Amino acid sequence: MSGVVKYERRGAVGVLSINNPPVNALGALVRKGLVDALDAGLNDKEAQALVLICEGRTFIAGADITEFDKPMEGPDYNTVLNGMEASEKPVVAAIHGTALGGGLETALSCHYRIAVPTARLGLPEVNLGIIPGAGGTQRLPRLVGVEAALEIVAGGVPVPADKAADIGLVDQIVEGDLLEGALAYANALIAEGKGPRRCCDMEDKIKNVAPELFDGARAMMAKMRRGFNSPQRAIDAVEAATQLSFADGLKKEGEIFMELVVSVQSAAQRHTFFAERAANKVPDVPKDTPILDIKQGAVIGAGTMGGGIAMNFANAGIPVFLIETSQEFLDKGMATITKNYASGVKKGRMTQEKMDKIMGLITPTLSYDDIADVDIVIEAVFEEMDIKKVVFGKLDAVCKPECILATNTSTLDVNAIAEITSRPEQVIGLHFFSPANIMKLLEIVRGAKTSKEVIATSFMLAKAMRKVAVLVGVCDGFVGNRMVFQYGRQAEFLLEEGALPQQVDKAIGEFGMAMGPFAMNDLAGLDIGWSIRKRQAADRDPNERYASISDKICELDRYGQKTGAGYYKYEAGSRMPVPDPEIDALVIAASEEKGMARRDILDEEIIERCIYAMVNEGAKILEEGIAQRSSDIDVIYIYGYGFPVYRGGPMHYADAVGLDKVYAKACEFHEEHGAIWEPAPLLKKLAEEGKGFGDYKG
Ligand code: NAD
Repeated sequence: MSGVVKYERRGAVGVLSINNPPVNALGALVRKGLVDALDAGLNDKEAQALVLICEGRTFIAGADITEFDKPMEGPDYNTVLNGMEASEKPVVAAIHGTALGGGLETALSCHYRIAVPTARLGLPEVNLGIIPGAGGTQRLPRLVGVEAALEIVAGGVPVPADKAADIGLVDQIVEGDLLEGALAYANALIAEGKGPRRCCDMEDKIKNVAPELFDGARAMMAKMRRGFNSPQRAIDAVEAATQLSFADGLKKEGEIFMELVVSVQSAAQRHTFFAERAANKVPDVPKDTPILDIKQGAVIGAGTMGGGIAMNFANAGIPVFLIETSQEFLDKGMATITKNYASGVKKGRMTQEKMDKIMGLITPTLSYDDIADVDIVIEAVFEEMDIKKVVFGKLDAVCKPECILATNTSTLDVNAIAEITSRPEQVIGLHFFSPANIMKLLEIVRGAKTSKEVIATSFMLAKAMRKVAVLVGVCDGFVGNRMVFQYGRQAEFLLEEGALPQQVDKAIGEFGMAMGPFAMNDLAGLDIGWSIRKRQAADRDPNERYASISDKICELDRYGQKTGAGYYKYEAGSRMPVPDPEIDALVIAASEEKGMARRDILDEEIIERCIYAMVNEGAKILEEGIAQRSSDIDVIYIYGYGFPVYRGGPMHYADAVGLDKVYAKACEFHEEHGAIWEPAPLLKKLAEEGKGFGDYKG
């Protein structure tokens, strides 16, 4: 018997226990061990019932996803689970922690399930672009009914133990020791003469199911998970359970699984999964780097970003001071925070009591003296170097020496800010995205002198704030905005050449971005970019192509959603962009003014121009070492800019297309549009070597 699964008897009950740290993944050794332990249990004449339980922090938390890309070793899943289900002795799964994916499928192949109150159960395979492949889509609807099964299989969201008990997925919730509870449950089965109760034999919940149920689920998933293939295929698999025998349904599930596991979408979704985990690894900042204790913080500036950042502190349970220049601005900032939380209470996301408690952690003040003892300050004042320097000078004078001084700047030089303080090693960029209380991404900007402790602490703070943090280096726009600048620039050039905003946004939306570039600009506010461009005008290379459509729109006082008009019109109180003939005329006039003959532009060109421009800049960023790895850039785009997860971020997407093809297009655009399309040397090199960005190790 393999060492990871043990068999022992407790009275009349045989106990199969898995010990495969850290999460008891259902790898080859565990599968083999389960077969052997089940055999031992079946051959043990004294055992009248069996219990399957796991040691450590969780029940089987899932399949071993590193096996997906390799030939499978050991017994396959269905052999193991069908064998478990066929057991002549009743088998009870005893669940703690998370029973996910292959873990829940194993529990479903047992005849009874009991769980501790904190357990969570689910089939999250769709999040990796696949469906359950070990009977989950066939057993679950038989046990809990089609509607609940669709929610779990196609939705991919785990359910807590109490809900699992409500729908019949769990037979009993066990308070106290799980093994003792499981033994008691198994002994009761023996006493009552209850034998195996197999999901594969259950029929009543899958008979006469209305087809509309599946149509409704398909329509809902098409909306909720736009562009994702796996939720649709998960619905097909559950539907198969209502149409086919169990054996044929399993076969169908297997076919869908095999089709998806080699799909481009699944590769992208798995890439995203690993990319997110890789992002918080910084080779020269090891795991044991000392972390500074963040007991209280401060935010300077209670505007759009400062208010949201203060909410992040409070949500994480960290008391925070919020500083402004006047009582009026302070009151305004606090009113916005109150409004945000109150809307959460109104929508039932939070109780009034919780809101009051969280708001109690935010202390508005006009005095820097109040923040002498805080452990971290995040500055979010106007994007003006002179103002930032004054603020950092004050902070350096007031704050205790070990306090971290962070800036939320989007474009300014973090090193220049650090240098005006006496503690550049304590200075770092913490670049939140708007709205800061909602957006998951945090770019952690490492300055030339930032200490390892400050970096490690920033990652820890990001985790406490439930953000996805990525380390980046200092440059104009860091990673996200530097790349999005190229993307937006191409989008505007396309307008000059013949497209209209709604056409560009539609093509980019169909590609899968959460929003097209123009709707996104309207949301962010056109005036921000306008003021940056005005500031940079004197330094602009007169020979470089410059599109002035956005400037012209701003000159009409159309700043986007906040003024009810930008590239689009917005009805009062609505965020829905409505195409505006006035803007169409402005765009056409802009082409005429430059003497450019407008032409028909295909969606394919829109996507290539916008996305490859971003990829080309990403290649430069990677080569300059501004990003540590290409997958970090992907994480930034997925969490900060709504890049479709099923395409895995811009760099993974380029790898999937093939860098030879991307490079060839960049060369073509270079010929046609000149210097701004100069292919990045790294793109050229990798394309010529037949490699991808994922192969680049710096
Ligand atoms: P904002 O204009 O909404 O807010 C800035 C606030 O800072 C104002 O309330 C102002 O009164 C206050 N302020 C100015 N000088 C101050 C001082 N000396 N002391 C205390 N408070 C002061 O601006 P914002 O959009 O919140 O941007 C703030 C910073 O965040 C900028 O550096 C910006 O580049 C960056 N940022 C903005 C966004 C965004 O989408 N808005 C996203 C990421 C980063």
